[in-house]
Amino acid sequence: MKRKTPPISSFFKPVGSTCNSTAEDANPPKETEITAVDAQTPDKNIESSVVVSEQARVGSTAYERDPGKRPQIWDLPIDKQVEARQFYVSEGPYQPYMREYPYNTDEPKHRRRFQFSWFKQFPWLEYSPFSKRAYCLPCFLFSKKPVGKSGSDTFTVVGFDRWKKVNSGKDCAFLTHMGKDASSAHNYSTRCFENFKDGTTHIDKVIEKSSAKTIADARLRLKVTIDSIRWLTFQACAFRGHDESSGSINQGNFLELVKLLASYNKEVNGVVLDNAPGNAKYIAHSVQQEILDLLSRKVQKIIREEIGNSKFCIMVDEARDESKKEQMALVLRFVNNEGIIMERFLDVVHVSDTAALTLKQSIYAILADNNLSVQDIRGQGYDGASNM
Ligand SMILES: [Zn+2]
Repeated sequence: MKRKTPPISSFFKPVGSTCNSTAEDANPPKETEITAVDAQTPDKNIESSVVVSEQARVGSTAYERDPGKRPQIWDLPIDKQVEARQFYVSEGPYQPYMREYPYNTDEPKHRRRFQFSWFKQFPWLEYSPFSKRAYCLPCFLFSKKPVGKSGSDTFTVVGFDRWKKVNSGKDCAFLTHMGKDASSAHNYSTRCFENFKDGTTHIDKVIEKSSAKTIADARLRLKVTIDSIRWLTFQACAFRGHDESSGSINQGNFLELVKLLASYNKEVNGVVLDNAPGNAKYIAHSVQQEILDLLSRKVQKIIREEIGNSKFCIMVDEARDESKKEQMALVLRFVNNEGIIMERFLDVVHVSDTAALTLKQSIYAILADNNLSVQDIRGQGYDGASNM
């Protein structure tokens, strides 16, 4: 009789339930509380009562399935560990059916034995006919090797056989093993088990969760940011305000423009500023700067195409900006392929000082950056040219 591997969701049994739940097993062994009468039944033919087909399957595989016999995952060579996990995950928990599970020998007066119905209540549970103890498959596969006294190895290495502690309501040893919250070692192992079972499709599933709506929202949000930046740039407006905090009555041109756009469109309003996820508002100064850089590269590319193979003049001027940084602007003057004289503002860069050498290096850098050759310069103009 081949038992069907339980669905993964069943590993997350609600914590509130107890071992004495009403779940009835439809399979032959009908379990009830073990009584004194049961205790009189002698152990017999334990090994032979294990379902034969289960053994046959075990024999054909490379890994020992009996949890009492198999080596620990961490004892396997590193290169075998993944393969072993794949094997055990695909096989599912080892849950052999025996007509009569053996009694434990600890307490002769209150002898108890493993119940087949526990498999149904605790799908992670495994039983070893060899050691006559119970184990946990996810913990066996994914728990860390216990170091010293930290961490329990009852359900992984030693095996559990204190059956008396199972039918004790909320103190049920199996529930205790599962733990009360998601951070318990067992639940962690179960999550690993689930992820591992999903295998390569797992990442796809995660990505799929970023639904089309999330993507569309993000694109609209980014579009608002780009359009705001483009508008401000064309109108030569400053982006930032003196006080951009949320309490400010004027958060600067950029934020105020985004707010204006949002106020005229429900759809936009739904995805920008406070309605955007905290880590993807697309309004940070660095984001503005990045988009501005991309726009400027596009403009420079078009200017470069306009110049083609023409010779050109450069016009250079320096100024100090509001933050007392020296800036150098470079304008190109050239004749385009229609024979018309053009003047194009190509770039503005920070310079550490206005010494001739510094300016020369900066000019060279800008020209090189735009794939223009110094040899093609046919004139130079500087404001305050004494320096040059
Ligand atoms: Zn476990």
